[in-house]
Amino acid sequence: MKTRIFTYVECPCGHRGALIQTIDAGAFRTGWHRAWLRKLTRDGTYDGEDELFAEMTPGCPTCGRSLSPDDVIGRSELQGTGAVLRLKSEPAASETTLSIGG
Ligand SMILES: [Zn+2]
Repeated sequence: MKTRIFTYVECPCGHRGALIQTIDAGAFRTGWHRAWLRKLTRDGTYDGEDELFAEMTPGCPTCGRSLSPDDVIGRSELQGTGAVLRLKSEPAASETTLSIGG
């Protein structure tokens, strides 16, 4: 069983993106299993206590600002592998998750 955790961030310039983690139930000893960025660069400079942001150093592709946990606007979780398998046939579905709040 895999869990995907979406951490949504919004830059002060209005750009939105997300950090996505995939955690395997068998990999808890090592913490999060895999992570990647959506609509963000890895050009940020965050170096604080938040492990995810420190590892991913997300940056805004629009204005170049470094994003931090202070820019988080929401989180959601998806459990199971079904969501992963559906992405290829329903590419639009993954993008709608960014529509929260407006
Ligand atoms: Zn920005």
